[in-house]
Amino acid sequence: MPIPLELVHRVFHAYPHVLAYDLEQINEFLKLCYAEREVIALIHHATIDTITQAPPLLPEIHAAWIADQTNLPLDLVNSLWGAFKDAIWTMASDSQELAARVQRFVESGWDKGISYKTLAPPSKKCINDACRDRTSEMRKETIRDGIVFTFDIGIQWAKVIHLTCIGCGTNYRSNYYIPRGSETRIYYQELPEYLQVDDHHYVDARLANHWTTSLLIGATAATSLARIYEQSFGCNIEELTRQYYSRPQMLSQKLRRLPFSPKLNTDHVWTAFIVLALLRDCKVHGVRLRVPHDGEQRSSATIVMYA
Ligand SMILES: [Zn+2]
Repeated sequence: MPIPLELVHRVFHAYPHVLAYDLEQINEFLKLCYAEREVIALIHHATIDTITQAPPLLPEIHAAWIADQTNLPLDLVNSLWGAFKDAIWTMASDSQELAARVQRFVESGWDKGISYKTLAPPSKKCINDACRDRTSEMRKETIRDGIVFTFDIGIQWAKVIHLTCIGCGTNYRSNYYIPRGSETRIYYQELPEYLQVDDHHYVDARLANHWTTSLLIGATAATSLARIYEQSFGCNIEELTRQYYSRPQMLSQKLRRLPFSPKLNTDHVWTAFIVLALLRDCKVHGVRLRVPHDGEQRSSATIVMYA
């Protein structure tokens, strides 16, 4: 149940000292109470209805723990429970909220050019030590389309931002940068959230890590991993929750209309596995991964050859 602003106004009026705290603390209070709702119900007497309404009291041990975790006074925690308990009792879980939010982008954002995912260089300013223009943010941009294979929200269309420094001409992308006139990609030392696996496809680093484990421990073929992703992760969350059948409906009409294929292939899996391994190795040795840049993402075999 959404929390009406009118209720918030009444809480501010009844407990004016709540204004000394920030919204994040109040939000965390709500989340922690929601997470503990099953236990909070059990602690109450069996004659108290906790199915259709929230129980009247927050157990002492929970109230004290939540006060400690949120840095809110204990008396305020109990007061907030009294005010917000009914809303907490019918809140959506974090995963439900995320699924609904992502679906909103897919259903009505994509047609307007609004994507849930945007991949951008890690810095808005040039990082070239020799550059004469490192103080202002880069505004010479190119925006491209990308397909992202995510760990938790299926296949997503993303905007991919490339920035070019007008001082030194370095072209910055989400995984690496290319100095002006260079034919070498220099990867950033920090592991990107999404690994580029060809010109327009990106893989969640957590997924690449999962594939690494599957390849090393389970000796699972990359072809199988691509199919497993399609069957298990590729569909959106809404479709998963609606179906009991283990074969989800793949590739909704929205996905079919994307500018590039939403199909994960074997080379994507191998490239993600190899790039992740190389980036980890480079990080341990304090160097940056460098691979040839020819305008298109090299195949996994070529990356290995040149790395
Ligand atoms: Zn520069």
